[in-house]
Amino acid sequence: MSTIADWLMPCLRQVQVLRQANSLSHALLITGADGVGQEELAHEMVKDLMCESDQAAACGHCHSCQLMRADTHPDFRVLDGQAATIKVDQVRLLVRQISQKPQVGQNKVVLITHAQAMNINAANAVLKALEEPADRTYFVLTSSQSTSLLPTIRSRCLLVNVPTPNEAEVRQWLMKQADGDALSSLFWLTTQPFRLLAVQKQGKAQLYASLPDQLTDLLRGSASVSAILKGLDNSNIEDYCNGLAAILHQCICHSTGAPIDSALQAIYDTLIARLGIQTLMLRYQSLQKLKSDLQKTNLNPIMQLTHELNQW
Ligand SMILES: [Zn+2]
Repeated sequence: MSTIADWLMPCLRQVQVLRQANSLSHALLITGADGVGQEELAHEMVKDLMCESDQAAACGHCHSCQLMRADTHPDFRVLDGQAATIKVDQVRLLVRQISQKPQVGQNKVVLITHAQAMNINAANAVLKALEEPADRTYFVLTSSQSTSLLPTIRSRCLLVNVPTPNEAEVRQWLMKQADGDALSSLFWLTTQPFRLLAVQKQGKAQLYASLPDQLTDLLRGSASVSAILKGLDNSNIEDYCNGLAAILHQCICHSTGAPIDSALQAIYDTLIARLGIQTLMLRYQSLQKLKSDLQKTNLNPIMQLTHELNQW
């Protein structure tokens, strides 16, 4: 029995039905907005494809299912482009590895997550593999930016589009996760469920949760910039920038009539009274620029963000 999120189930069923009817494409591209769960869905689909039973969903008991659970299945290969570019040598190695007959079950699967991170040579190598499909071999790709993939790759894949869940669905799902309550108080930052989960896994939920109150204290004169930025370093400056930018973005939207999260009401009142809407927009742009500059240069993060907050 699968425990994946409700909004992923129709996509999973769609592929299970095609597989049972023996009409599943050997290449799948799972798309959707960042953080809606493409990777989680892909892993479920891969488990189904690797299972040796003739059931629609993975049985969980056969040798293949056991090897998948232990992360040691020799006929399953994965490339993840989240942290770094996927290069052609990696794709070639993987294609070579799966060119043999399956060692355990009936199928072989290559999973490429965040596939937009393939460089052009890697993408061409994948295209070649899709054009000359090896027997019983499936390619499963995920991407939140599928339009940046080669059109020739897209056209060879069955497109599985993951819907974006609404706020109520995300809230309900979060309640089943550890610390789901705390995470749903971060809806002002994002309502993308797996982005929230990533924030928690990285141990950054508290950093974000405390920002609105700390900022209110700063603007009311009861806290200093250095107190807010205590704990800031190169590993989390992007989180500070994201959090501050999200607060400004929500406040700007609220000034034009959109509802605002209750966690931001106090900071909204203070920001509008102190800076006004034009300045809020300027500070928002400035934060975005700071974030992109940080990726290109070796700026001192504390100095940069201190300079920014001193203008609030
Ligand atoms: Zn099985």
